[in-house]
Amino acid sequence: MENTYDVIIAGCGAAGLYHAINLPRNTRILLLCKQELTLCNSALAQGGIAGVYQPDGDTTDDCTDLHVQDTLIAGGFKNNNEAVQLLVDNAKFEIGTLLELGADFDRTPDGKFHRTLEGGHSRHRIFHHKDSTGAEILNTLIRKVKTLSNVTIMENTMMVNLKKSSTGFSVQLLHNGNLSSAHCHFMTICTGGIGRIYEFTTNSKIATGDGIAMAYGIGAKIKNLHLIQFHPTAFNNHHTRECFLISEAVRGEGAYLLNCNKERFMQLYDERLELAPRDVVSRSIVLESRRTGSSDFFLDISYKDSEFIKNRFPMIYESVLEQGYDITKEPIPIFPCQHYLMGGINVDRKSETSEPNLFACGECSHTGVHGNNRLASNSLLEALVFSRQAALAISERLHTCTQDFEEVQFPEKENPQPMPKGFRTEIRHIMQESCFVIPDSAKILEGFERIREIRKQLLNGNYIIDSNYIEACSLATVGYLILKEVI
Ligand SMILES: Cc1cc2nc3c(=O)[nH]c(=O)nc-3n(C[C@H](O)[C@H](O)[C@H](O)COP(=O)(O)OP(=O)(O)OC[C@H]3O[C@@H](n4cnc5c(N)ncnc54)[C@H](O)[C@@H]3O)c2cc1C
Repeated sequence: MENTYDVIIAGCGAAGLYHAINLPRNTRILLLCKQELTLCNSALAQGGIAGVYQPDGDTTDDCTDLHVQDTLIAGGFKNNNEAVQLLVDNAKFEIGTLLELGADFDRTPDGKFHRTLEGGHSRHRIFHHKDSTGAEILNTLIRKVKTLSNVTIMENTMMVNLKKSSTGFSVQLLHNGNLSSAHCHFMTICTGGIGRIYEFTTNSKIATGDGIAMAYGIGAKIKNLHLIQFHPTAFNNHHTRECFLISEAVRGEGAYLLNCNKERFMQLYDERLELAPRDVVSRSIVLESRRTGSSDFFLDISYKDSEFIKNRFPMIYESVLEQGYDITKEPIPIFPCQHYLMGGINVDRKSETSEPNLFACGECSHTGVHGNNRLASNSLLEALVFSRQAALAISERLHTCTQDFEEVQFPEKENPQPMPKGFRTEIRHIMQESCFVIPDSAKILEGFERIREIRKQLLNGNYIIDSNYIEACSLATVGYLILKEVI
């Protein structure tokens, strides 16, 4: 196998694929995917992609200033203004590119784009493909990447170690139980979120924060990892770790939130009611559960026309029906759970980290666009806008690289042992108990000490390098960094 590349991209979600598509065609690229291409958070995105995009003849009263304002309000004005402007200004270009690549977004009967509303947006500006927008975007990007002869895609191949070299970076890979290495001038980390550090999350099982832990390992600055978004309306079946999301767009189309007495309660907490930003709604649910003494909550859209519901939310309708609830006829049980990471590997406007030629894009990165709380449907947009910025930055530097590669070695372990069971479960439990919607400071202190011990044991122990061990190391490092920030 060839093992030297201009760019290695770890991660094949929206960020990684779009980054590869935007690099020049003479760039030799290796795209790594931990499992299969369709297993990632991008594939799960339901609601859509936000943006002010008005092709000819299509008019709305929306404008980029309003999108900026909504993003800042949702983020509690803790956003990076320059990054927000870049995000919003580029929406038109990236959504246009998706359409050129063949993405199919819903239209109204007169042929105009159907834009939906979600919490925190003052205008209908969410482009969507029914309720499975992420899968539509991901499949569009996969189709394109597969036509590119300069891109080598390696599925079921995990980045397990990352080192700096004098000519760029060396990456240790795990494929079918075998370890190998590859080397590059530019490294782009697009490994997604950290949801699997919680007991309950909407995230895909790949979301273990590997890229963040490895970037930290080579000295990249990590920022605001404690800024975690808890989505207020995950389907609550009380036992599945990966919780099925009931999209914000359902509230956008008029669904009510009900407490254990099947009464609306948001008026007690925020005048924006069900369409308040996510952090406000999740917090209101937790406070209401304390007030009523019950964690039973429901989402109800059954008063709307059932054909409308089935056509607008076919995937949600089918999935919830499989769990025994008919969303067109009755309220369905929901509760907040981990959903998104606002912090991550700190990057500048070009998505470059504090380590030269190391880039990070998508959910693993911290661009500053989201502030304290991400506005719905801004993250797919962020993944596209900033991964293209990274591609532009790399394109400008490619000519400076020689054909030489220093191949840093990854020493073999002698007689390694299987990792003891239980670490991952313990970390998840600590995070769920200490750092959920309203953090518990006593539990945070205790949890931090224990996760620090676990991390030390994992990093110093002579354990077999397999995906279980690497993911446990990632969870321990990410948990350690989150709790360290909030202590
Ligand atoms: C249920 C759900 C609904 C959502 N709905 C919306 C929405 O409507 N609108 C919106 O804007 N956002 C939404 N989001 C958020 C959005 O989907 C994500 O933030 C975004 O897709 C992240 O893209 P990404 O490319 O950064 O990561 P991902 O799409 O998660 O991709 C990560 C990639 O990294 C790879 N990877 C991870 N670790 C390694 C490793 N060690 N080695 C090699 N490869 C690795 C994985 O295999 C995967 O290919 C939603 C998220 C969820 C979970």
